[in-house]
Amino acid sequence: MKNFLGKTFAAFIIVSLMSFIKSPNMRFDEGMFPLSEISKLDLSAAGLKIPQKEIYNPDSTSLIDALVNVGGCTGSFVSDQGLIITNHHCAFSAVQLASTPENDYLENGFVAKTQEQEIEAKGLTCRITDSYEDVSDEILTTASQVNNPVDRLAVIKQKIKEIENRAEKDDSTITAQVSEMFIGKTYVLFRYKTIKDVRLVYVPQRKIGEFGGETDNWVWPRHTGDFSFMRAYVAQDGSPATYSKENVPYQPKKHIKVNANGAQEGDFTFILGYPGRTFRNYPWQFTDYQEKYQLPYISNLYTYQNQVMEKIGQQKGRASELALATRIKRNANVLKNYQGKLKGLNNLNLVDQKRLEDQKLIAFINDSLELKSQYGNLMANIDRVYQQINNNAYQDLWFDHIYGSSSLLRIAREINNFKKEIYNRPISQREEYFSANAGKLEKQLNEIYDSYDYDVDKTLFTEMVVRANRLPLNQKIKIISYRTRGFNPEEQSAEFANNLFQFTRLKDPQYVKRNLFRNVGFILSYKDPILNFEQELSQEKERHDLESERQTATLNELLADYVRVKELFQKKGFLPDANRTLRLTYGYVQGFYPADGTYSMPFTTIRGIIEKGKTDLTDYKYPSVIKDLWERKDFGTFKSDTLNDVPVCFLYNMDTTGGNSGSPILNAYGELIGVNFDRAYEATINDYAWNQNYSRSIGEGI
Ligand code: GLU
Repeated sequence: MKNFLGKTFAAFIIVSLMSFIKSPNMRFDEGMFPLSEISKLDLSAAGLKIPQKEIYNPDSTSLIDALVNVGGCTGSFVSDQGLIITNHHCAFSAVQLASTPENDYLENGFVAKTQEQEIEAKGLTCRITDSYEDVSDEILTTASQVNNPVDRLAVIKQKIKEIENRAEKDDSTITAQVSEMFIGKTYVLFRYKTIKDVRLVYVPQRKIGEFGGETDNWVWPRHTGDFSFMRAYVAQDGSPATYSKENVPYQPKKHIKVNANGAQEGDFTFILGYPGRTFRNYPWQFTDYQEKYQLPYISNLYTYQNQVMEKIGQQKGRASELALATRIKRNANVLKNYQGKLKGLNNLNLVDQKRLEDQKLIAFINDSLELKSQYGNLMANIDRVYQQINNNAYQDLWFDHIYGSSSLLRIAREINNFKKEIYNRPISQREEYFSANAGKLEKQLNEIYDSYDYDVDKTLFTEMVVRANRLPLNQKIKIISYRTRGFNPEEQSAEFANNLFQFTRLKDPQYVKRNLFRNVGFILSYKDPILNFEQELSQEKERHDLESERQTATLNELLADYVRVKELFQKKGFLPDANRTLRLTYGYVQGFYPADGTYSMPFTTIRGIIEKGKTDLTDYKYPSVIKDLWERKDFGTFKSDTLNDVPVCFLYNMDTTGGNSGSPILNAYGELIGVNFDRAYEATINDYAWNQNYSRSIGEGI
């Protein structure tokens, strides 16, 4: 019976999808199409003027081959010599690492006039999608033999590893990764080529690359020059290689042609890229959790952290400011995004909308005997898991953020893990393990120390201890309660943190460098108060994580059923949530109505930079040459006759999210007309629900 039902459902889904796909009136509620779906679209009906195969063709080269995932952002090749265009904010951390108070590229920008002058973009690598293959059957067949959710998830994970290892063994030039497209339901194996040597070629000065700063971040109208150029390098034989002077520019299979004429309102456009995470195929309880716990908790914590980092950075000078710049920027970026989401959730009553949809789904299930017999308990079971999750929300969030709050704690974790690995080996092999891996550990520690500041670290750590003591009784962190026991836990918190920071030697990167890597004996016998504390904390976290894993495992099965039954109910195509895999989205250059009585036009121009610059805000300072040229109307080839000015940024109704940063915006002929870099404030909520009315993304005009 189960099998029969399964087949009927499958047939039903296929028929409903087929009637859907290829129809010019087709509508998905959103539009991040995976590679497997592109051939089913009718993009010429939407306005594409080149054969669809030129976008994606598994048998030949196509525009897809010009795409890279660069450090979590997207970039695209714009020359046959590995030149990549992406966002300024995607290069930001690499520019920070290359900057010193004397050579402040972050502030002043950087241009390599020759390839020799290009600088290593530390921490950045590029990934190119080579091919993909649906491996759901193989994974789910194995998983179906296991009943317990925790074991089932473990089997899935193990199978995924096995498939990845097999793929990498079959082709040693690729990195394999299986991505879960629909939770617990669909799995695709992606094969990637990795480029390990990436260099900075051009970065505008910060006043351009970040014009508008946090004031304008996630906001339209926008005038930011959020773009940069990098170059990919490989060894002389074409194989991936880490940074070396001998490496040569990578020659991509395909690069995108620039069309400097830009775009007009209403133009058809499409974007290829690596969108990070969306959460649309989830029941209402997920969004409720976001609104009640996740978003407010993180907004509050990051506001505090940034206040601390900004204040201490200002007191201590440029070197500290540089060390903290990326953290501050990342926090601020998330913070404002979350505030936008909270506003949107509230304005739209999105949780109520989703709850209503789920109630209809329950009615749909209960309406059919067959569905009821299979899915009758589904929604109640989902609800039960979310009740457990909500019950422990604050403790979960604390554990999620404790390591991110303290560099020294992360350093301690790396060292403790390293020591554990050594202890796990027979005595005769320890020396060898140490010699082979100490360099890697040193590099990891250096990367953490790069953005470490003692005073910041101590303040943020102390705050987390205080916050732990304020957790509800059922959610306390035992090790903290124990270490700060006494009459006044707040005072004890400060004293406890003071002691740790006073007596640890990990606060001194030079000490660590000089001593810890001397020999295996030294590191094993090395004692430190933060190492001790981290060890106890991580043991408690491990126990805590076991419970979270049980919840994730249970949800893994339930959410697969949730999508299955929702597809039947809504009789429409479902697209997998964004998961860092390659997607296409298409739409039009278009303005919108962000609020009652307000229309946002789809283009901004230099005039707006000059106008914003008339205020006192430092975020709106810009290089004076812009004003000189603008006043002389010296627009060169960049003038738009329609706007009688130089266009700066533009809006479109495509479906994008974080990770689409740097994605090429292409016109009907597949030419580059811009680079995606943000969304309007009202659109930040599209991670939970895309909607034509409010979903607008922001791009840099080419
Ligand atoms: N500006 C966004 C970010 O920094 C990326 C693009 C988006 O999320 O729309 O995360």
